[in-house]
Amino acid sequence: MSSALGYEAMAKTAISIGANTFQYFTRNPRGGAAKAIKDEDVEAYLKLSSENNFAKVVAHAPYTMNLCSAAEHIRKFSKNMFKDDILRAELIPESYYNFHPGSHTGQGVDAGISLICDALNETLSENQKTIVLLETMAGKGSEVGGKFEEIAKIRENTELKNKVGVCLDTCHVFDAGYDIVENLDGVLEEFDKIIGIENLKAVHINDSKNPIGSHKDRHEKIGQGHIGIDAMKNIINNKHLRNLPFILETPHDDIQGYAEEIKMLRNLYDK
Ligand code: FE
Ligand code: FE
Ligand code: ZN
Repeated sequence: MSSALGYEAMAKTAISIGANTFQYFTRNPRGGAAKAIKDEDVEAYLKLSSENNFAKVVAHAPYTMNLCSAAEHIRKFSKNMFKDDILRAELIPESYYNFHPGSHTGQGVDAGISLICDALNETLSENQKTIVLLETMAGKGSEVGGKFEEIAKIRENTELKNKVGVCLDTCHVFDAGYDIVENLDGVLEEFDKIIGIENLKAVHINDSKNPIGSHKDRHEKIGQGHIGIDAMKNIINNKHLRNLPFILETPHDDIQGYAEEIKMLRNLYDK
């Protein structure tokens, strides 16, 4: 959803499709100015969220944000957006701010990681309540974050690492080569060894249009891609994952598609 709707409206929409969390873009995907957040709207949203037992909601950074671009003006524009978004996220208690680590655009992974850490070290503050989430990526093009080691390195080189968590995107990790279909436990063990499972805060639950290791990042509807419904059932019931907020980013033309997917996943969820 888009925050231009307002928080109360987003919560109402989520409730109307059987959801108890949601993800929203902080501003239009091209990264223009964000709409002012009104106190009354936040209050109405908090009331709905507590009445309906919401999990933490997730803000998603605009796709144009790239904290490790080779172009300085893009890094600067991205950092300003990042700072502003975090200030805004602070107005929404119990929320996460998810972002793509970035694309190094030819500078190499290590240079990319160091620029991302610079931006985090400049932006995060000790007293902020918002936890920012590094999204696991498919490793498309020069994307940073397609390997757990890269995500771990970003956290390790960030001073306030307790403000930095991880969001696991099922389509992306599968696309990056992690076999969550045949070996979910093994993948999560690896995650734990390299990043620490306690740092995993949210899941983007998407099927994949492409086979494992394709590095293409094309999401598919749940059960209709190469991950498949059996693996989805394992994922939502896994002991490390089952209590995290699950966000659908599947391709649907209308909201009814999400309502049906939520219903299907709830039926597969062990009570
Ligand atoms: Fe994303
Ligand atoms: Fe995602
Ligand atoms: Zn994606």
